[in-house]
Amino acid sequence: MFGAVVVGLGTAGWVRIRDMLTPQPGSPAEKLAVKGFISRRSLNTHQGVSQISMEEALSREDIHLAFICTENDTHEESIRTFLQAGKHVCVEYPMTMSYKAALELWDLAQKKEVILHEEHIELLTEDFKELKKVAEGKVLQEGTLHFTGGALKPGFGFPAFSGIARLTWLVDLFGQLSVTEASLEEDSANSYSKMTAKLLTSDNRPLTWVEERQTGLPREKKINFVFDSCTVTQIPPAPRGTVGLFMQDLIHFSAKLLGQVSPKELQREKVRILHCLELADRIQQLCQS
Ligand code: NAD
Repeated sequence: MFGAVVVGLGTAGWVRIRDMLTPQPGSPAEKLAVKGFISRRSLNTHQGVSQISMEEALSREDIHLAFICTENDTHEESIRTFLQAGKHVCVEYPMTMSYKAALELWDLAQKKEVILHEEHIELLTEDFKELKKVAEGKVLQEGTLHFTGGALKPGFGFPAFSGIARLTWLVDLFGQLSVTEASLEEDSANSYSKMTAKLLTSDNRPLTWVEERQTGLPREKKINFVFDSCTVTQIPPAPRGTVGLFMQDLIHFSAKLLGQVSPKELQREKVRILHCLELADRIQQLCQS
């Protein structure tokens, strides 16, 4: 069994505890046992699980791994602390707020011979799987992904990082990308922001990624993908899967811990994650230059 601690008890942290308490029967997630949680608040017990200190989590031999479920700007420090203590880490996306930090953490995980896993539930949705099927075998001519959503809470970082799930969709659909231009419009009095990034596929097809946020904006993704044979303007609707998204991620992470994921697949994921963080870094630099 792998003992786990959950750091940060917001939406994601709560789900992590629930999923470890009721794992998918017969799945590798049954090999995880939640031993405690860490919170800045004093919460005593939560879903029957006790609050523990960071020091206790780091020193206990029956705690083998940590789930980092705090705000984005605290991920890097928490990951580093647990990796240095020789614990495996599952972090909610985005792993870090810079490409350089992610590279360092990956090297540290390798040195410590532990798993570093970044959750990407957006790749596990039925909608995305349908969209992938639609795009398969077609040649993209040009495309747009425009995300709208409510204003972000403090600590979630620059839009290219907080919105890494959308960028990950684009990379998973169209392969390695490069950034040609990026800009950020901000109206802090109205908590409005709009980031626009111009990207190119490896065969020089243009893609535009927009992250637009303001209190009250509906959470929505608008797409317009022009292929050689058709234009896709709607994410194909698909019924919800029977296994929850965080549970699917938990099963995948547990399979990694059990050595059930091939080195090729581990490498493929690492390359994709680092590529997305490098693009996010570049977009931030261009927006701020
Ligand atoms: P949230 O605001 O609900 O929760 C963050 C929690 O972390 C808060 O309760 C906060 O008090 C706690 N926290 C922050 N720093 C802490 C510390 N040092 N020690 C202990 N607790 C601390 O946010 P959320 O929606 O749960 O998101 C958390 C992470 O999960 C983010 O990185 C986000 O990108 C990622 N994520 C969330 C979802 C989702 O559906 N909510 C989906 C994918 C990824």
